[in-house]
Amino acid sequence: MSTPRSDELAAGLSAVRARVDAACTAAGRRAADVTLITVTKFFPAADAAELARLGSEDLGESREQEATAKVVDCAGLLDTSDLAPRWHMLGSIQRNKARAIARWAHSAHSVDSARLATALGAAAVSAADEGARSAPLDAYLQVSLDGDPARGGVAADQLDELADLTAGTTGLRLAGLMAVPPIGVEPTAAFARLAEIASRMQSQHPGATGISAGMSADLEAAIAHGSTCVRVGTAILGPRPITSQ
Ligand SMILES: *Cc1c(COP(=O)(O)O)cnc(C)c1O
Repeated sequence: MSTPRSDELAAGLSAVRARVDAACTAAGRRAADVTLITVTKFFPAADAAELARLGSEDLGESREQEATAKVVDCAGLLDTSDLAPRWHMLGSIQRNKARAIARWAHSAHSVDSARLATALGAAAVSAADEGARSAPLDAYLQVSLDGDPARGGVAADQLDELADLTAGTTGLRLAGLMAVPPIGVEPTAAFARLAEIASRMQSQHPGATGISAGMSADLEAAIAHGSTCVRVGTAILGPRPITSQ
């Protein structure tokens, strides 16, 4: 059924898909090689369900508490004939949330420490034992492009060690890298540096081909520099509602 909100979401989704397609064409890449994750954080489960009905196969969240409830609510709103979306955890993760996240997340995009990787691996193994998941959790290592640990991400010079550890952790699959351009840095320069770091890592871990980069404002620059996964919220759902949390 068409409602003003479903029309708005459909328009947002098709506009962003057109941007992704145009950016792929400009970069000489195939649109199928870039996954669009629609970021539903702060928006209700009804929006997530509507996006799934509109064909959004990948949805992203950044806060565990909000996400764990929304994943369940969204599934309840979808019909069995609808495609079940894959859910991705994008934000920073507290280790005590690993168990909950491993029950619903296809991937975690901000793995930035050995302790977190170990906790997520153990959580994914337990979730599999309990029948809550069937595949390893895709782990994207978040790289800090300005070396400021306060903003999350592992420093580039500590990446090799974390990549080796993640690749050797049961329950995880080393999927690739993720980054957010530092404030005040030109996104193009940031994504070019990320591509360089990714290619260095791939020489050691050839299967870790994922690059999670690009949001509403800078997805074109990210795709030009090899992003395989853009994470887009505002350009599809509109400005995020202000919450009291
Ligand atoms: C919120 C969020 C996004 C989406 O940002 P928009 O600018 O709304 O597209 C992408 N990545 C992460 C990690 C986020 O937390």
